[in-house]
Amino acid sequence: MTTAAAERLEARNSILGEGMLIRRALPHRGRRMIGAWCFLDHAGPVDVSQGQGMRVGPHPHIGLQTFTWMIEGEVLHRDSLGYEQIIRPGQVNLMTAGAGISHSEESPAQRSPTLQLAQLWIALPDSHRHMPPAFEHYPVLPRCGVGGFETTLLVGEFGPQTSPVKVYSPLLGIDLSSNGAAEGTLPLRADFEHGVLVLEGTAELQVTAEGQAPQMLEAGTLLYLAPGATELTLRSGAAARLLLIGGAPFDERVLLWWNFVGRTHAEIEAATEAWNSPSPHTAFGKVEGYAGDALVAPPVPAEIKASK
Ligand code: MN
Repeated sequence: MTTAAAERLEARNSILGEGMLIRRALPHRGRRMIGAWCFLDHAGPVDVSQGQGMRVGPHPHIGLQTFTWMIEGEVLHRDSLGYEQIIRPGQVNLMTAGAGISHSEESPAQRSPTLQLAQLWIALPDSHRHMPPAFEHYPVLPRCGVGGFETTLLVGEFGPQTSPVKVYSPLLGIDLSSNGAAEGTLPLRADFEHGVLVLEGTAELQVTAEGQAPQMLEAGTLLYLAPGATELTLRSGAAARLLLIGGAPFDERVLLWWNFVGRTHAEIEAATEAWNSPSPHTAFGKVEGYAGDALVAPPVPAEIKASK
């Protein structure tokens, strides 16, 4: 049994839409992907009772699935397929961009004062990345408990449970939360790589993988575990919330730029031009009902290249 390598990655602050401060854990300079998970933002908890709250105008995607996990508050999603869906705590919105889609995300007028969510992107494998776009709303996900942690199975399989969320490569996503001191041990698939991100908790949290020294994690730190880990023990001294993600190492080189996941520079360039062209966005459809402007795609730097 080889010892699993662990790596600490600090999320960085970034801005989402019109001025919402978020923490971006993936992609990271030291780690582009965990399985097919290629993007991980944690937004909030933030007070949205004043002002307009979250506002992300119409923008396109290709080659990925956007996965939104709502922890507190509400977000209204609209897309070019005509879906208009409010997502509430405990629910998941999954948008499969495939060949191309566009959407907007905003705080609805009637809303809770606090907003907190995680948005992740899943790179589609080459076999599915040109598929027709789709949107699914999952109002209920399997819940269970591990030690003192309450678990919600977001993606994949955990014990006897299977998440209904439709993905196209072997993946895992679990939300774990505790109201106080808690300890729990989870089995891990040795063929998966994993990441644990502390979302909330002023208390420190201890993560132990087999063969590893314990790691103390605070909110905003992502612990990466290479394939080979078979067990994870989570321990918190007070209320905490964590996100465990995992997947089979993604063996395709992907190019991620702005809201696009592709394979070649030319492909990203073509998507950028198609979106920014003044003619109707035929490749990406049209989002109806958003009171604001569409986002403009930034120029593609010459130096970006596909990476793993
Ligand atoms: Mn988006």
